[in-house]
Formats: sequence, structure tokens, C-alpha cells
Amino acid sequence: MTIQPIFDPDAWNLTTKQAELNTRVRQVASEKFAARAAGYDRDATFPTENYRDLADAGLLGICIPESEGGIGADLKTYMLAASELGRFCGATALTFNMHVSSCLWTGDLLDGLEMDDATRRRHHAMRRFHYRRILDDGAVYAQPFSEGNAAAAGFKAFGTTALRVDGGWRVNGRKIFASLAGHADYYGTLCTALRKPGDRHLRRNTMYIAVPADADGVRVEGTWDTMGMRATVSRNLVFDDVFVPESEQLMPEGVYAAAASRWPHMFMTLTPTYMGIAQACYDFTVAYLRGEIPGVPVKRRMYPTKQIAVAEMHVKLEQTKAIWFQAISEARPDPDKPRLMRAWAAQHTVMENANTLAQTAIRTCGGQSIMCALPLERLYRDSRCGSLMLPWTAELCLDMLGKAALYESGETDDP
Ligand SMILES: Cc1cc2nc3c(=O)[nH]c(=O)nc-3n(C[C@H](O)[C@H](O)[C@H](O)COP(=O)(O)OP(=O)(O)OC[C@H]3O[C@@H](n4cnc5c(N)ncnc54)[C@H](O)[C@@H]3O)c2cc1C
Repeated sequence: MTIQPIFDPDAWNLTTKQAELNTRVRQVASEKFAARAAGYDRDATFPTENYRDLADAGLLGICIPESEGGIGADLKTYMLAASELGRFCGATALTFNMHVSSCLWTGDLLDGLEMDDATRRRHHAMRRFHYRRILDDGAVYAQPFSEGNAAAAGFKAFGTTALRVDGGWRVNGRKIFASLAGHADYYGTLCTALRKPGDRHLRRNTMYIAVPADADGVRVEGTWDTMGMRATVSRNLVFDDVFVPESEQLMPEGVYAAAASRWPHMFMTLTPTYMGIAQACYDFTVAYLRGEIPGVPVKRRMYPTKQIAVAEMHVKLEQTKAIWFQAISEARPDPDKPRLMRAWAAQHTVMENANTLAQTAIRTCGGQSIMCALPLERLYRDSRCGSLMLPWTAELCLDMLGKAALYESGETDDP
């Protein structure tokens, strides 16, 4: 049976490139990843085979600019394709996002920001080095920024430091929840650049640098035995006086902090995984009630209660798709306040609704649907993780929305 796209190209006015990429991703994910997802989840092992298939399908360079030999997907084009991936294996989609972010930040996003000619030339030379590795050698990049402090939420400078030394940087620190730990070739690390020991940690000195996984002093530690997103293998990473050559910088110093504040939609790249999960919960419920799930062939669609439940799921899914599509369509540098608020609202909606849809799916399908042999219980567990992703957790989105709705820039309640 043909699987319908989440976003029909005609109805949603997709470009030829968007439609083609969605089809390519849906094909590989539905034909290969869907069947493997349960095993990776059960054993909490990294989906290595899926990454081989992503490389074979030419997708590792999805966000590498065309001028550099990649597919050149912009933020929206990537997000649409990634949602098709999340539909069939959430953990692969979430980890793939960490890899892709290294190209999106250095590619489409920075291309849209002003830079003086010398910095632009330096940046292009830096990113080309990483892009060649990805395109020629199939290198995979992780994106560890969380440290268990306020840095990942954007409230303080990273505790992980890169100290300037001859020919490069000495990196020290500890990252938690590092998806792809032990499986990526390079850790695209956010840290604070220091000119000399003892310098103050300043957010404007945030540095984005690739730490080779096999460099001396890099250690993966701790276990990863979680409720959901088990195949992301997001263990802790320790950098113990790791020498990293200057050529590993992903961006010139100082550029990341400006880019992060001017391109807030970038933080939405964690959502397509959960957009895909939301669709998968709905698809499963429809197939289940129609008696089309192997092993549970009994039809239950004739009961009015089931019809109402599916109708409510349909409404919620359409609402989720609509606000998400609008938010990713208006992604740009320096968005105005309404657009920024819509991005937060969209992030909150996708992350929370994916889990609400999973809950409703279980209640509606019933007891036989929670067997581990079926995907629904995994979708339920994975969907719960979306709201926890910093810096735009569901809670923080509400915080930011509430403040933005009630205060204009610079307003206080001081007498
Ligand atoms: C499956 C999975 C994969 C992940 N992969 C990666 C990865 O590859 N790279 C990476 O860097 N991180 C990754 N993360 C980490 C994620 O982004 C968070 O950093 C992580 O969940 C931190 O959790 P915490 O309990 O330390 O958060 P805390 O900082 O303790 O925050 C807990 C909650 O409190 C709220 N909160 C936090 N700060 C504030 C504040 N200042 N004001 C008000 N409320 C606040 C937020 O809602 C937050 O959810 C992953 C997480 C998950 C679940």
C-alpha cells in the first residue's frame, strides 16, 4: 500500500525539491528503518545500519549547500523531510538532526547573515573541510551542548572551555545527553573560547568546534537506559585536556552567539521528529480500527466512540501540522515578535500534541495495542521526550510566550 506523505506536495504547495526529498526519505525510512526500530529500542543500541542507508541515499549532506556538493536543503526543506523520518524511527530522526545541524548552522543559516569578507572567506574554508569529510568519507557529526546547567537553555556561558594554544585549542569539560555518543566520528561541541586560563566565561565567546571522537582525552561514560528515545544512545561525554587543531573549528570565534540570537527558528529543528511521531500515532490508530494491523485483524471502526476519538485525533493532527508548517515557512533571521511567538507556540504544540495523540491512540485502540511487538508503545514513550528538549522545552516556551504577550521590549513593573 502506498504511504501518503504527511504534507501532500500539491495541497501544501511544496517545491519540487521538497516533494522529491520527502519521497526519498519516506521510502528509505518506511522500507528499512520501520522494521529495525523495535530492536534498536529494545536493546538501546545505536541505529548504525540506518546511518549506512542514509549515506547510501545521499542524505548525510542534505543541508550542505549545493555550491559545496550537497543537496542544499534550507531549514524548511530539511524539516519537512525529517518529519517523514521521525514517522518510522524517532531515534534515527532525532540523532540525524544532531548531525544535520552542523551543516545547517554553517550553511543556510550563516549564509543568510551578514559577515565581513575576510570572516566569510575564513568561514567557508572552515566548513568546506567538514563538508568534504561528510560527503567523501560518510563522517557523522554529533551536537553535544547540554551540560546539566543553565547553559543549554541559553542563560549562561558553557562550562566546557576551549583554551587557545599553539595550532589550536585545548578542550576541557563534560557534556550530558550527547546523542550519538560513541557512534559519531566528530562531536560538534559548543564551548566557551578562552584566550588565557582564568578568563571570564562569556556567552559571546561561544565556540563551535568539532572534537574528533578518537582524539586523546575524549571519553564516553555512563549508561543510557531510558524510558524513551533509547536508540539515541545519549551518554555523557568527557573532554579531558583534548588538543583540537584549529582546522576543526566549525565557525570563526564569536559567530555562533550572534547566529543563535538572530536565528531562533534553528531551535525548532528538534520538532520534525515529533511531527512524524504524531502522524505515526494517527496512522496506527486508523489502521488498527480498520483491522489492518497484522496480529489484531478485528475491525473496531463501527463503534461511535472510536469514530469520535479518531475524529478528535484528526483535528489535533491537522492543527499541529498547520501551525508547524506556518512557523517553519516563516523562519528567517531576526523574526519579528509575532513570528517568534508563533515559533514557540508551534514548538510547544508539536512536542505536547505528539504525546497527547499517543495517549489517545492507546486508549482508543485498547489493551492489545500496547504489546511491544507493535510500534505504538514505543511511539508513546518516545513522544514523551519531546517536551524536555532544551533550549525550547514545553515549559520554557510557555514562560517566553507569557512574558512576550504581557510585556513589550524594555517594559518593567518598577514604579
Ligand atoms: C532523547 C534525548 C536526546 C538528547 N540529545 C541531546 C544532544 O544530542 N545534545 C544535547 O546537547 N542535548 C541533548 N538532550 C538534552 C536536552 O536538550 C536537555 O538538555 C536535557 O533533557 C536536560 O535535562 P535537565 O533535566 O538537565 O534539564 P534542566 O536544566 O534541569 O531543566 C529541567 C526543566 O526545567 C525547565 N527549566 C530549565 N531552565 C529553566 C529556567 N532558567 N527557568 C525556568 N525553567 C527552566 C525546563 O522546562 C526543563 O525541562 C537530549 C535529551 C533527550 C531527552
